[in-house]
Amino acid sequence: FLCLSTVAWAQTEDMKYKDPAEPVNVRVWDLMRRMTLEEKIGQMAQIDRTAATAEIMKNYSIGSLLSGGGSVPRPQATAQDWVNMVNDYQNGSLSSRLGIPMIYGIDAVHGHNNVYKATIFPHNVGLGCTRDPELVKRIGAATALEVRATGIQYAFAPCIAVCRDPRWGRCYESYSEDHKVVQEMTEIISGLQGEIPAGSPLGVPYVGGKTKVVACAKHFVGDGGTIRGIDENNTVIDVQGLFDIHMPAYYNAISKGVSTVMVSYSSWNGKKMHANRALVTGFLKHILKFRGFVISDWQGVDRITDPPHANYSHSLEVGINAGIDMVMIPYNYTEFIDSVVESVNNNRISMSRIDDAVFRILRVKFMMGLFENPLADYSLVDQIGSQEHRDLAREAVRKSLVLLKNGKSADKPVLPLPKNASKIFVAGSHANNLGNQCGGWTIEWQGLGGNNLTVGTTILSGILNAVDSGTEVVYSENPDAEFVKSDNFSYGIVVVGEPPYAEFGGDNQNLTLPEKSLNTIKNVCGAVDKCVVVVVSGRPVVLEPYLSEMDALVAAWLPGTEGQGVADVLFGDYGFTGKLSRTWFKSVDQLPMNVGDAHYDPLFPFGFGLETQPTTSS
Ligand code: BGC
Repeated sequence: FLCLSTVAWAQTEDMKYKDPAEPVNVRVWDLMRRMTLEEKIGQMAQIDRTAATAEIMKNYSIGSLLSGGGSVPRPQATAQDWVNMVNDYQNGSLSSRLGIPMIYGIDAVHGHNNVYKATIFPHNVGLGCTRDPELVKRIGAATALEVRATGIQYAFAPCIAVCRDPRWGRCYESYSEDHKVVQEMTEIISGLQGEIPAGSPLGVPYVGGKTKVVACAKHFVGDGGTIRGIDENNTVIDVQGLFDIHMPAYYNAISKGVSTVMVSYSSWNGKKMHANRALVTGFLKHILKFRGFVISDWQGVDRITDPPHANYSHSLEVGINAGIDMVMIPYNYTEFIDSVVESVNNNRISMSRIDDAVFRILRVKFMMGLFENPLADYSLVDQIGSQEHRDLAREAVRKSLVLLKNGKSADKPVLPLPKNASKIFVAGSHANNLGNQCGGWTIEWQGLGGNNLTVGTTILSGILNAVDSGTEVVYSENPDAEFVKSDNFSYGIVVVGEPPYAEFGGDNQNLTLPEKSLNTIKNVCGAVDKCVVVVVSGRPVVLEPYLSEMDALVAAWLPGTEGQGVADVLFGDYGFTGKLSRTWFKSVDQLPMNVGDAHYDPLFPFGFGLETQPTTSS
């Protein structure tokens, strides 16, 4: 009898890491002392789901999976398809020798933008114009619910870049050119992960349970400062500038318990951030006391060398020694594991560096309850694109719109439009195109796909829903002037903008609207009584030469699936309240030009935005 109980005791003792009653640190150490070097390095690996199978998860103890930009199972995969897929991989991980669950990461950067029928919120540039951190927190919470509903536990968001040059293709992922606005918007982290408990020590990661996700502040640091806005390029700025402009939002993110930080592809004064030990380890981990894990960007370690992947094992040593804990490999995991094992065996990466990385990764997994709840919760499936979330997105659209011009003179405002106008002409490439309205990072990396991309309300259908039944709405994408003139339209609404893009695909040194759109503005505005131009874009574009043709001008940014929010404000159910999160330049030769610059001479300054009052009746 005595013997049996001793055995039972020894087993419980052995299984400390499986016991949720044990403190997280105890569980982590208990697990780590059982792990082989290969298993530890496997935990540091993040691979794309297309390179993975349940067997691979099991055999290599892979720590994490991702769906990289658009690596969706199939474009119209249902939430259930996602759940089945994620659970299948997870079951592989759970059957590994020590049963360590994997964590699945995805770019949920404006809602769970990977999933058909999910709610797509405005991109960050628009959210910055709301100046409403509490709204952004609610968006974070809704996004977390939709992500968890597909079994995924990790969102590569928020992007807290301070975009200093709109020629950058990722400018719309940035809340603002002003670090103070970006700092305020880090409140989204409290929505994604949950509110950090009062009194938590600085830097300790926090995720509040099964309806929350691990967040990721990215891209550390200076991603928004590259020369001429060239993606992944060099940010040339002195120490003071880096710490005054690009670093402050990281203080906020860390104080909110952000669990992970992604390193930037960009360089700072010529040194690749993936190789920058002083900033990643010295500053982020030691001085700011960040205790979550640092993740590389996609093949970011490979790019330490030029050409990328030349001398991969050396790059891995430099990156891991710089402080990267999890490597977004994302394909060749055997090459990664073999290479890091060899570097450790030859003392080019210390065992304590590996242990620090694995400790950080496992701490997040234990802290968020992944060992207790590794599989998807099927009951959350209805959260995807729920009415409540769509209403929230619609509210965000309304608050993000910025009214730049209202009437040819201030005493003759055009907006809000009356709902009982007899005839309205609607035109433009972005009036009836959901894909254009959502922008990049929507189902597909570059966001191409038009109206079939996902489910939502276009701006045109929003207008049709808003007007009185007696109002005639005529729509033509690119009408000629004669056609518009052939009837008496009291109002024209021209919705034009940028085609969708993501990352370097959107780098653009001209920032002009397509010729076709400019003609549409001319043709409609020259032929109707009053003409409202709505610009759908990820950043300011060249408009000064055409401004005089327009009676009213609205910046709608990239509003997402709820186009109704645009009509809500155009027709006066709500007032315009948004304020520019960016400077609207006159011409590209002024760029970069940010508020506070000596040569500041904008078309519309940072913070500008006219207001209207809601109309009580139409
Ligand atoms: C981007 C990251 C993104 C990652 C994973 C990279 O190309 O720079 O922002 O999180 O891909 O999709």
